[in-house]
Amino acid sequence: MLPPIIKENYGKWKYHEILKPGVLVHVSESGAELYTVRVGSPRLISIYFIRDICEIADKYCDGYLRFTSRNNIEFLLSNKDNIEPLIAEVKAKGLPVGGTGNSITNMVHTQGWVHCHTPATDASGIVKAVMDELFEYFETMKLPAKMRISLACCLNMCGAVHCSDIAILGIHRKAPVINHENLKNFCEIPTVIASCPTAAIRPNPKLKSVEIKEERCMYCGNCYTMCPSIQIIDPENDAISIWVGGKVSNARSTPMFSRLAIPYLPNNPPRWPEVVDAVKKLVELWAANAKQGERMGEWIERIGWEKFFQLAELPFTDKHIDDFTYAVTTFRSTTQFKW
Ligand code: SF4
Ligand code: SF4
Repeated sequence: MLPPIIKENYGKWKYHEILKPGVLVHVSESGAELYTVRVGSPRLISIYFIRDICEIADKYCDGYLRFTSRNNIEFLLSNKDNIEPLIAEVKAKGLPVGGTGNSITNMVHTQGWVHCHTPATDASGIVKAVMDELFEYFETMKLPAKMRISLACCLNMCGAVHCSDIAILGIHRKAPVINHENLKNFCEIPTVIASCPTAAIRPNPKLKSVEIKEERCMYCGNCYTMCPSIQIIDPENDAISIWVGGKVSNARSTPMFSRLAIPYLPNNPPRWPEVVDAVKKLVELWAANAKQGERMGEWIERIGWEKFFQLAELPFTDKHIDDFTYAVTTFRSTTQFKW
């Protein structure tokens, strides 16, 4: 499956360079050069799309390509002369070239309303709307550092929302409704009870069912994952939250979890203007204020969260204050703060 140039130089790469947005060269100890053209993809793709990219790989790359961990496509070339014709051809097909260096590369995202049964929002729709708005940052490398944006349609967080510079996360806002009639037939009650992180569920032996203490429920939807007789999806109340400041790399600072910035934005298909606007503002605020090489979380940690909320003009509410296990570790235990 590996291109011959990779097989021959496996483990012997000396250095690499980004020649321009979307184009990389890796040079091996033997002097061999491998060129990579990175192309954006919507992740959810048809077999016709796959056949199209296979044809391009046959034409310019001896049939070799790969997908990246953020679902971009990389065409692997050993012939430098094929780079520009390949780029012209993928662009003619409407595919963007970029996603390298200090850019906004593809958004890691989930199933949404296309395929999952627990989402509080859609994935592909929002990703398309956000990437349309931030498209210039995919094709250029003018940001202070990498900006990783990801989306999960419920707080199972399939993917990378918990560790991204900006994360879009679907949330529920009402306690689930129980169908007592069929719960005993469909659900294993001890598992349902054990699924609740706040112990809001207890047995209801009379009905051979369970009951939910609504004041203890924070609408995670975990019980619904365990039990189809507990329904939490609610078109009126399901919504979006935005999180910031996560990263996975160890470069400069340790990896960080993303934290809540905006607790509520409406689900507004098909273009989610409120979400798009909020994400764009956060990207531009960070880009205008961060030092070169400083990720979103590093910038916020340097200026302080109170300053971040002030600059972002975001209201700080009770929703931002952790009240779960280990909440105390997130409180300020110093007199150091900025007015
Ligand atoms: S994040 Fe939740 S709703 Fe989305 S695919 Fe994963 S489990 Fe399904
Ligand atoms: S939605 Fe979450 S918090 Fe609420 S009852 Fe179900 S498992 Fe517990």
